[in-house]
Amino acid sequence: MIQAKPHNDRGSAPAAHAPCWSCQAPADGLFCAGCGAVQPPGGADHFRRLGLERRFALDVAELDRRYFALQRQLHPDRFVKRSARERAVSQSQAASLNQAYETLRDPLSRAAYLLELEGVEVAAADGRTISDPALLMEAMEMREALAEAEDPGQVEALAKRNEAERAEALARLDRHFAEQDRDAARAETLRLKYLAKFAEDLRARRAALRAAAAEPRP
Ligand SMILES: [Zn+2]
Repeated sequence: MIQAKPHNDRGSAPAAHAPCWSCQAPADGLFCAGCGAVQPPGGADHFRRLGLERRFALDVAELDRRYFALQRQLHPDRFVKRSARERAVSQSQAASLNQAYETLRDPLSRAAYLLELEGVEVAAADGRTISDPALLMEAMEMREALAEAEDPGQVEALAKRNEAERAEALARLDRHFAEQDRDAARAETLRLKYLAKFAEDLRARRAALRAAAAEPRP
């Protein structure tokens, strides 16, 4: 049983805002309403940074739209005439924004991040990526099949299967998060992690076969 920390920030009073570093007025947005200075990233989580609800199901088009709008507001061109301090603050904001975007855009990292926010450790405590025996067995079989694949068609078939399995795993993950079943979401995230790693192995194998085919025969 996984112990999840209660997430009680919903409905609670918003935290007091730090004063603007430039004019000391209370500042709660990206820019100070008083003097217009860009504010440091602070401790907002990735969802809040992008103005999104904290949940797994996410409208990627909406995520993109919000990210690019914020990125435009933080564009270095807008800060060339500002003080060195404000330029530095805008750069740390931009870095936090990029990190938030990259984490949320990829479903696997979004799932791991969301579980982390909810106090669920995703990686196995002993550092092994796979501790589930059924998944371990499947991973071994797939790796063996890949090692034995001698022509591009066989690799292609494995890639198709991998793609289908990733889509299914994502759909299940979506459901587990919707049902707030953290144990199941964690198991599915680990499975998705393995499937993503295997997709990398498939690409490497495909490239190796292609390189071998291009080599002149002795
Ligand atoms: Zn200010």
